Amino acid sequence: MKASTAVPGVARSHQAQTGFFRFCRRGNRYLITNDLGRYHFLTREEFSDFTSGALDQSSVLYGRLAKDGFIRDRMDFETQASAWRSRNRFLWQGPSLHIVVVTLRCNHHCLYCQANAVVMKDRNCDMSLETAEKVVDRIFEASSPSITIEFQGGEPLVNWPVVKFIVTQARRKNRKAKKALWINLVSNLSLLDDAKIDFLLKHQVNFCTSLDGPADLHDRNRILPGRSSHAETLRQYKKIYRKTRRKMFRIEALLTVTRASLARPKDIIDEYVRLGARGVFLRSLSPLGLARGVWDKIGYTAEEFLDFYRRAFDYILEINQRTVFFEQTARIFLAKILTDNDPNFLDLRSPCGAGIGQIAYNFDGGIYSCDEGRMLSRMDDETFRIGDVRQGSYRDSVGHPVIRAVAVASCLDNQVVCSQCVYKPYCGVCPVHCYAEQGDIMGRMPTHTRCRIQKGILDHLFSKLEDAKNEQVFRQWLRRAEERSAC
Ligand code: SF4
Ligand code: SF4
Repeated sequence: MKASTAVPGVARSHQAQTGFFRFCRRGNRYLITNDLGRYHFLTREEFSDFTSGALDQSSVLYGRLAKDGFIRDRMDFETQASAWRSRNRFLWQGPSLHIVVVTLRCNHHCLYCQANAVVMKDRNCDMSLETAEKVVDRIFEASSPSITIEFQGGEPLVNWPVVKFIVTQARRKNRKAKKALWINLVSNLSLLDDAKIDFLLKHQVNFCTSLDGPADLHDRNRILPGRSSHAETLRQYKKIYRKTRRKMFRIEALLTVTRASLARPKDIIDEYVRLGARGVFLRSLSPLGLARGVWDKIGYTAEEFLDFYRRAFDYILEINQRTVFFEQTARIFLAKILTDNDPNFLDLRSPCGAGIGQIAYNFDGGIYSCDEGRMLSRMDDETFRIGDVRQGSYRDSVGHPVIRAVAVASCLDNQVVCSQCVYKPYCGVCPVHCYAEQGDIMGRMPTHTRCRIQKGILDHLFSKLEDAKNEQVFRQWLRRAEERSAC
């Protein structure tokens, strides 16, 4: 079942009764949504009565549609404005995610490396302590009451002195700033030792690592010369997992799906369940970095990914008959579908996070709209560069013309196809992806891989939501999310 972007029949809708809505046909039923993220499944007759203003005003359905803002002359503006404000509260906050690339060096040679990492001996690609100090100063100029510093690379542990400096300096500065400060380390973990783990745990650093499934699959994608990346990752993962089980900070693993993964959804999920993970993040390959050059070997079409996703998702639902275990993309969408608490996942919001939700700082002090913009600079394209920590000000960067253009391009009301799409209240576009794939930050959704994947995932989720038992499972996933904030 596909989400239709056509709106036949709307011109005939009843001016006083029928409020603004988007819809798609799903078999014999219609899915309708509105900008508050409320949704209903209607039969063909109900849909016809709804659009023509002929619904029985004493019916349960009429009452539900009125409560959810679908009946024009029964709007509760106060409640709806409050829900809208809650769903879009990120608009009042400024950049909260600050990606710091402390080095481009890495000891791995992953097939799909988006960062286009350099070899270990190339020390010219390390951040200096002087630059690091300026980066921390710039981060604390951000207006957001909540700050997340995320170390990316390359492999950040290669430049351990700078990681240590930034963690210490940020915690020190925050004693005065009193922001909600989170620090994440995105690492392959292979360069960790007990002293580093102790320091990071003492400073409440979250760990994020990559796990592409069982050893043969992981090691095929993620090459660590002379050793098994899978064995190294698991050795450290288990150690940190034990130490952080009852803490607010923790370790998470992320999966990148390559062509070799497509036939093995169960093997991959079983690996995560065996490790005691709370869920899995089924991420499709991005056309940035090294992946672009080897797409013929490791890439796939949107339809191939969706076939994998649906099989993996249905297996996850089977697992949930025994224990709570979530899929992260679905959980992000479900938070928007079932609650008014937008999880502020920066790639899936409107407008996207570039420059107004996140900022990326390169090893040389260059400032970029987002991590994807920084990755593009590794492909000799500086389109998304918005400053340098040694010059100008925070305001110059966040008010940069590139940020204005990206905010306009990623606001779904400005996207012709998205503005009519039934999934618009839950979705987001990434102008850097549009630019990398189609050469234009506005993108062309009908042929855009990411749009097709998001639409396919939302099609699958809504088909599951037609069964009330699944909704109970999904609400458990969301309760889990509230226990501790995401990595
Ligand atoms: S994906 Fe990460 S671990 Fe792999 S080569 Fe790139 S930076 Fe290194
Ligand atoms: S990007 Fe999202 S909102 Fe836009 S058309 Fe695709 S699925 Fe719909």
